[in-house]
Amino acid sequence: MAQNNKTLQFGGHSLVWAGDWSPKNARFAASSASTAGYDLIEILIAEPEKIDAAMTKDLLAEFNLTASGCFVINAKTDITSTDKSIVKAGVDLAKQAIDKLSAIGGVELDGPMASSLQPYEQPVTKENRNNSVVAMKEIADYAADKGININIEIVNRYESNLMNTAKEGLLYLEEVNKPNVYLHLDTYHMNIEEDGMVDGVLAAGDRLGYVHIGESHRGYLGTGNVDFDSFFGALKKINYQGPVTFESFSSVVVDPALSNALRIWRNLWSDSHDLADQAIKFMKKRYS
Ligand code: MN
Repeated sequence: MAQNNKTLQFGGHSLVWAGDWSPKNARFAASSASTAGYDLIEILIAEPEKIDAAMTKDLLAEFNLTASGCFVINAKTDITSTDKSIVKAGVDLAKQAIDKLSAIGGVELDGPMASSLQPYEQPVTKENRNNSVVAMKEIADYAADKGININIEIVNRYESNLMNTAKEGLLYLEEVNKPNVYLHLDTYHMNIEEDGMVDGVLAAGDRLGYVHIGESHRGYLGTGNVDFDSFFGALKKINYQGPVTFESFSSVVVDPALSNALRIWRNLWSDSHDLADQAIKFMKKRYS
């Protein structure tokens, strides 16, 4: 199967270790990720102005890590909005995130950036969808100029009304029709919405550009309901090469912009080191 010039990397989401990207917390996250054997750290770039590019670049070099950028939009920057000023704010914010990722040397922007990360109260309309597609074309072109890939995360019905399955995501990608725009699948969301953990991956094939590995309760891998053996088996079938990033959240490590949007109310773990050590072993045992 044709591949997409990406390489297999094991990553960890920064919120496993740090609630913000202040110099002290960023150093703790990068050193912890590196010590645990991760290749990549996924940095939340929801508020691009809060990420110090020079500091981050130095940290990545010191700990021999690459970075990806996790990007989300909210109701004020929702590119599905019928309010043109809100769509423009979303496109502008995406461009700032792309600039920041480029400045720190990353090439993969990921996350549920095709719509706002929120519970919608009604189905998406044709106009909402079209606004997102048009905006995404502009975002994709801007990213391409900087050599950056856009990986659109498919999330569950409580976090988006635009699309909730891999197959819906592939239809969206067809409409956007840009070579640097890929599908991003997350086992946590797939466990809620897909017909099992295999079909969506096989349907995506070489359009799958980014993977989040999360348990059904977002805690320790292997302690919930996700059928990881089937999922990793499907990745092998398509010979997936790209980031495989562990994502887990607990009320112990909090980013106000993301934790509340994701409804992280429970304490599922308190020891980031133990959690991250277990996760990379779990992932490599099934995919390497
Ligand atoms: Mn995710």
